[in-house]
Amino acid sequence: MPGFVDKPEPVQVPGLVHLHTGKVRDLYRDADGNLVMVASDRISAYDWVLPTEIPDKGRVLTQLSLWWFEQLKDLVPHHVISTDLPAGAPAEWEGRTTVCRALEMVPVEAVARGYLTGSGLREYDEHRTVCGLALPEGLVDGSELPAPIFTPATKAAVGEHDENVPYEEVARQVGAETAARLRQLTLAVYGQARDVARERGLILADTKFEFGRVQGGEEGDLVLADEVLTPDSSRYWPADEWEPGHAQPSFDKQIIRDWLTSPASGWDRTGDTPPPQLPPEVVEHSRARYVEAYERLTGTPWS
Ligand code: ATP
Ligand code: MG
Repeated sequence: MPGFVDKPEPVQVPGLVHLHTGKVRDLYRDADGNLVMVASDRISAYDWVLPTEIPDKGRVLTQLSLWWFEQLKDLVPHHVISTDLPAGAPAEWEGRTTVCRALEMVPVEAVARGYLTGSGLREYDEHRTVCGLALPEGLVDGSELPAPIFTPATKAAVGEHDENVPYEEVARQVGAETAARLRQLTLAVYGQARDVARERGLILADTKFEFGRVQGGEEGDLVLADEVLTPDSSRYWPADEWEPGHAQPSFDKQIIRDWLTSPASGWDRTGDTPPPQLPPEVVEHSRARYVEAYERLTGTPWS
């Protein structure tokens, strides 16, 4: 079964309780009950957490996420409290650690799509729908949709696929009101982010958000959580190379997926054998793409 090739031992920090080792992030609780989220350099593909890390990935994605939370703060409240290192934390956590409000998470991957590709394209080719939503004839890989759509998915455990679910199923699971608010916020945040990205010459094809609620609080509004609008949670395409009709060059893990499925890797993704180590040039190319996404979006050089 897929999962970690090598599951890392959690770093122990006095005063922090280790809660969870996710595919990419390690979660702790601090003495105030807040969540300490440490982004690692781990990378996952085809439901495996690969045995090779991408240097700086944790810092790049943390900084990009923080930049986006700031851009979006008038539209939606976010979970970030501080980026100060907790007392006793190792210096190497610097730049990739976020202290957040511990939320009761809504167990839905809130996906917005403005363009057709990936699992959306596969469903469209078969049924002319995406997540059950009817779409016009004539769309191809990379086409812009008539309007962005909300295509929720269930959150899968490590080693399992997220699965697209119809909106009605989400409404059944989390209640009609929460489902409606999820859809509204997801599309609003996507719309604003898409416009920002477009000004930077990037197409935001689709993205995934996670929302939560303040624990024990009033049945209040949803808070934007997790990481936002990083190349791990989003598909960005260079606008000047966009050409519907085939797969677009992207800033995400495509480089790594392509290598893993090429003869060079010698790996069979359909079998049970864990994926191999990535070669240095694939690691460097991937790192450069993450850095480029950060620099293009924020307009700030990565130091
Ligand atoms: P899992 O292993 O649980 O499937 P994952 O593989 O997506 O998660 P990561 O993304 O590395 O793992 O870890 C981040 C985890 O933290 C996710 O489970 C996410 O739902 C959760 N999370 C993010 N923000 C918050 C928050 N503010 N409060 C509580 N949980 C949060
Ligand atoms: Mg995650």
